[in-house]
Amino acid sequence: MAYDELKQTIIDYAHSIGIDKIGFGSIDPFTQMKARLKAQQDQNYQSGFEKGTIEERTEPAMHLAGAESIIAVALSYPSRMRERPENKKGARRGTVCRASWGVDYHVVLNDKLQQLHAFLAEKVPGFRSKIMVDTGELPDRAVAERAGIGFSGKNCAIITPEFGSYVYLGEMITNIPLEPDDMLEDACGDCTKCIDACPTGALVGPGQLNAKNCIAYLTQTKDFLPDQFREKLGNQLYGFDTCQLVCPYNKGVDFHLHEAFEPKPELAKPELLPLLTISNREFKETFGEMSGAWRGKKPLQRNAILALGHYREVASLETLEELMTKDPRPVIRGTAAYAIGKIGHVDSYLMIERAKVKETDPEVIEEMDKGLRFEKVYREKGKIKIDQIKPD
Ligand code: SF4
Repeated sequence: MAYDELKQTIIDYAHSIGIDKIGFGSIDPFTQMKARLKAQQDQNYQSGFEKGTIEERTEPAMHLAGAESIIAVALSYPSRMRERPENKKGARRGTVCRASWGVDYHVVLNDKLQQLHAFLAEKVPGFRSKIMVDTGELPDRAVAERAGIGFSGKNCAIITPEFGSYVYLGEMITNIPLEPDDMLEDACGDCTKCIDACPTGALVGPGQLNAKNCIAYLTQTKDFLPDQFREKLGNQLYGFDTCQLVCPYNKGVDFHLHEAFEPKPELAKPELLPLLTISNREFKETFGEMSGAWRGKKPLQRNAILALGHYREVASLETLEELMTKDPRPVIRGTAAYAIGKIGHVDSYLMIERAKVKETDPEVIEEMDKGLRFEKVYREKGKIKIDQIKPD
């Protein structure tokens, strides 16, 4: 079969197995990106989650002997929930970003690319490929941009004409020469909405991200959250969507083409309090399928504690006190102490003082002191809470 005919066969097959968009790119090195990544590294803007050396990240041919082309694919995901979670009085909820609403896309996309591999292996003798979905060395966005899936927005997302930036990306390096597609033209123009809306200034310029300041990244860290980001986190448990939500190309975009990506309301907006005491087994059973669970329960619990502090939720004080005094993880004890102080109940400060006497970890003690400092601020403003800790 001629390669241009094969290309059309691949496109048809990909659509038949539910791949929403497919494009083809060369295996040339990503020269411009190499320079960008180097600059990012020099400026200490990388998250630390990146895989491989700069060479491995920018030279596709390093990953497959005899590499000839890259097939890039995209699956759309919903931006709106069809069902909302039930509103219960006093039950505060957190927020999980849209990309983590359904079944882990790594699994779904990898499965589709495996199907595509099997299809090609039948058609092309000696066919070989290397599949990557997010966790591979090649940056999926750079590949998608080259293969004409979408253009690279100033918010660093790939923006497709059909599905906006609500797409999961993956790719397959192949040993067959397939004609590359044209790249799409950059269509941000004068717009700077995403840069202006970024609450932490993480978008330091068009298409330039300081990952260390990005809330999506910060929600995935396991340490104490740096002070300057705590309020900005709000009720965010995992990921962050603001730079996508403000983008005009996402206005009204809401595709529900894959059952696997349909949000489960109780997981997309989980109740905060039950999350604080969930066992490892329950966590795995409840949240194990979502991509946001990849770092385990600790970052989500830390963020949930901060969210309860943000809401100044008095009904959470008992549980937070338990965590502050008994949890074996210093990050959880310390963050709980901070949140207790932030809630600013009349009993908060006695709780922290009592726990501080027994605490030995210097970082936790530092967090307790931060919690205690809220008392002066609230007293001066007349904002100390006196509600019952346990409502009738
Ligand atoms: Fe581009 Fe504007 Fe969208 Fe940012 S918000 S990615 S600048 S179109």
